[in-house]
Amino acid sequence: MLSFDYVVAGGGLQAGLLVLAIRARQPSATIAVVERGPTLGGNHTWCFHDGDVPDGCRDWLDPLVTWRWSGYSTHFPGQTRTVDEPYAGVSSERLHSVVSAALLEHPGSALLLSTEVRRVGAEGVGLVDGRELRGKVVIDARGAAPDAADEMRAGYQKFVGLEVTLAGAHGLDRPVLMDANVDQTEGFRFFYLLPFTDRTLLVEDTRFHDSPALDVPALADEVRGYIEGRGWSIEREVRREAGVLPMPWRHRMAPPSGPPLLAGYRGGWFHPGTGYSFPVALRLADFVSARPPEGLFGSKLEAFARAHRSQSRFPRFLNRLLFRWYPPASRHPIFARVYRLPQSVLRNFYALRLTTSDRVRLLVGRPPPGISLKHRLSHPKP
Ligand SMILES: Cc1cc2nc3c(=O)[nH]c(=O)nc-3n(C[C@H](O)[C@H](O)[C@H](O)COP(=O)(O)OP(=O)(O)OC[C@H]3O[C@@H](n4cnc5c(N)ncnc54)[C@H](O)[C@@H]3O)c2cc1C
Repeated sequence: MLSFDYVVAGGGLQAGLLVLAIRARQPSATIAVVERGPTLGGNHTWCFHDGDVPDGCRDWLDPLVTWRWSGYSTHFPGQTRTVDEPYAGVSSERLHSVVSAALLEHPGSALLLSTEVRRVGAEGVGLVDGRELRGKVVIDARGAAPDAADEMRAGYQKFVGLEVTLAGAHGLDRPVLMDANVDQTEGFRFFYLLPFTDRTLLVEDTRFHDSPALDVPALADEVRGYIEGRGWSIEREVRREAGVLPMPWRHRMAPPSGPPLLAGYRGGWFHPGTGYSFPVALRLADFVSARPPEGLFGSKLEAFARAHRSQSRFPRFLNRLLFRWYPPASRHPIFARVYRLPQSVLRNFYALRLTTSDRVRLLVGRPPPGISLKHRLSHPKP
C-alpha cells in the first residue's frame, strides 16, 4: 500500500488549488491526486476577481492565471457600468499543466489519471482497480455528490458558452460580466463575454432559473445569434462549455468534524449567491496548507467552516427572495439595482466576505418591482 501526507480524490479546481498551496507552504509534503479523467480540471474556464484572493495566496496562484484584465463592464437597459477592478481567468489546460508539474517534479508525490476512486475513507482511498492509497489527511474533492440536489432547495445558474475565433477584431478591452440587454426568455438572462485575444472570445448565454434543465444545442444557437447580432462573424468554433450551478436557499453542510475532509463542491465550499467556488476553494486551500497534516482537524477547522456557513446565510436568503418571491420574468430589475451599488459592496459580495453594512446596502430601499405573493404561494414550502 502506498502512503502519502495528503491523498486527494478528484483532480478538479479544488484539488489543483490544494496541491499548489500545500506545495508552497510545505515543500516536503507528499501528495497523491487521483482523477478519473485523462487530464486534471475537465473542460472549464474559471474566473475570479482580484478581491477574491487572500494576500498569502498570490505567489502560488500566479502561475495558474491564464488571462488578466484591468476591469469589467455590466450592461442593463439604460445602464452601463465600467468597473476598474482586476479580473482574471484560469483555463483547464493551464490548471492541468501547472498542477501536474507540481506533483510529478516532487519525489514521493503521485498523479494518477484515468483512475476511478471507488471508496473514500478516513485513512485512505480505494481505487476501482483494487489499489489502496493511505493518507495522513484524506480529502474528497470529487465535485458535487450524486445526491447533492436532494440536500438542497435551489434555483440554478445555467449556461452554455462558445469559445470562438472571429473573422475580425471584436473591439472589447475587458470582459462583459453581464449584458442583460437581451430577451428575458428564461428567468434572469444575460450574456457573459471574455475577450482572450483581439479576435478570440468566450461568449456564454446564462440564465438564473428555477429549473436545471439545459438544452445545450439550443443555447449554443442563441450564442451564435448573439454574436451575429453584435455584427461579428465566426471564423471558427474552438470549444464549448456548459454548466448548471445550484444557487441554494436551503443547504445542509456537514461540519468537518473528522476525516475525510470534504472539499470543493463536495463539501459545500461554494458561493450560494453566484454558484461559483473559486474564492471559497482558494480560502480552504490556504487554510489547509497553513497547518501540518496531523493538526488539520479540530476546533480551528470547525470555526473556519462555521464562518463559511455564516457568510453563506445572507446570499441564501437573497436566493430565497429571488427564486421564491419573484416570478422569472420579474428578476431583471433586481440585478440592475445590484449593479448600481458601490464597488466595495460588489467586491465583498463576489468574495463572500460581506460586512453588516454591505448587507444593509444590498437590502435597503424600495424592493425592485415584480415581487409577487402569488408566485410565493404557488411554490409552497417543500
Ligand atoms: C463550465 C463551468 C464553468 C465554471 N466557471 C466558474 C468560474 O468562472 N468561477 C468560479 O468560481 N466557478 C466556476 N464554476 C463553478 C465551480 O467553480 C466549478 O464547478 C469547480 O470546478 C468546482 O470545483 P471542484 O473541485 O469542487 O469540482 P470539479 O472541478 O468538478 O472537480 C471534481 C473532479 O473529480 C473528478 N471525479 C469525480 N468522481 C471521481 C471518481 N470517482 N474518481 C476519480 N475522480 C473523480 C472529476 O472528474 C473532476 O475532475 C464553473 C463550473 C462549470 C461547470
